[in-house]
Amino acid sequence: MRIGVPTEIKNNEFRVGLVPSSVRELTARGHDVVVQAGAGAGIFADDAAYEKAGAQILPTADAVFDAADMIVKVKEPQAVEYRRLKPHQILFTYLHLAPDPEQAQGLMQSGATAIAYETVTDSAGGLPLLAPMSEVAGRLAIEAAAIALRRPTGGRGVLMGGVPGVRPAKVVVLGGGVVGTHAARMAAGLGAEVSIIDRSLPRLRQLDELFKGRVRTLASTLDTVETEVLGADVVVGAVLIAGASAPKLVRRDMLAQMKRGAVLVDVSIDQGGCFETSRPTTHADPTFEVDGIIHYCVANMPGAVPTTSAQALNNATLPFVLKLADKGLAALDDPHLAAGVNVHGGRITHPAVAASLGFGH
Ligand code: NAD
Repeated sequence: MRIGVPTEIKNNEFRVGLVPSSVRELTARGHDVVVQAGAGAGIFADDAAYEKAGAQILPTADAVFDAADMIVKVKEPQAVEYRRLKPHQILFTYLHLAPDPEQAQGLMQSGATAIAYETVTDSAGGLPLLAPMSEVAGRLAIEAAAIALRRPTGGRGVLMGGVPGVRPAKVVVLGGGVVGTHAARMAAGLGAEVSIIDRSLPRLRQLDELFKGRVRTLASTLDTVETEVLGADVVVGAVLIAGASAPKLVRRDMLAQMKRGAVLVDVSIDQGGCFETSRPTTHADPTFEVDGIIHYCVANMPGAVPTTSAQALNNATLPFVLKLADKGLAALDDPHLAAGVNVHGGRITHPAVAASLGFGH
């Protein structure tokens, strides 16, 4: 099969659909890969690295879309991109179609088969192509918090790990899923005092086992959230209720009772956020203050570390890319990959996506 990798064109997107090592895996199996000139620039992978991996460099996105049977990307296609798709082509990328009827119409009109990373499943009931970005965001949350805690950035001037003789920062993680676990691991690694609050008792048992007493686990009640948040230097919001807006666990009236200069990192901002006072921010201007509390609410956190994020994403997507390259649409005999199909033959085929768009399927 011929696989095409265009340059990402969404604002501030530096990742790339295939890193050179993934291209090498494909070409070693006899597939052709065409890459748009400069597609890897955002992660410092130059055209020569792609050529060394066996790719052919093409000068324009048009040339890549014209040549390829399957397009592998990162972000949802922009209008200029989905207009280039043809009925025989496969598009494999993040789509996030539910809130985006325009893109849904565009993909339906193209006749192409669009497979969304975010709805591919695994045998444990997880979303394996979303998890790597949650891992990145969870770990980054603590780096962001450590910077925001510093006095020059408005924070209360606390060093995350303390020093001998001085207490470390107290970090409270709301939600012990993928983001929360990775945030807790980083915070504990820096020497902070860490507690994780989750509403799932089986999950708390797993976390207790995992952290071997290094991190405190607490069941989510109004009392527990309030007590922990009021004593915290850092609160990481990492709750998710699948398919719903994040619950508002920290109300505005709690801020006045928190420590001055404490930091709230709302990773769940992409689902509306779990602090009442959160609003989405960007890497260019990541924080704001409400009632003396610093808020960090960047909606695309992994975008700050595209070199790590692109590699992490490729580690998860490559097995599926290889399967699709080897077998074409016959690869959809894998039910987990088939769960990723959102658009096929001019229709929205994913029931939940169709329902939230209000389309029949
Ligand atoms: P996950 O499903 O692995 O974990 C969510 C956890 O929240 C679960 O353990 C669940 O039991 C817990 N939870 C739900 N309601 C709760 C409540 N009321 N109290 C306490 N715990 C509760 O999800 P995840 O992959 O860790 O993602 C978390 C959030 O981070 C999602 O909204 C995701 O979209 C977001 N995210 C944001 C970015 C970003 O750049 N901002 C990047 C990746 C993920």
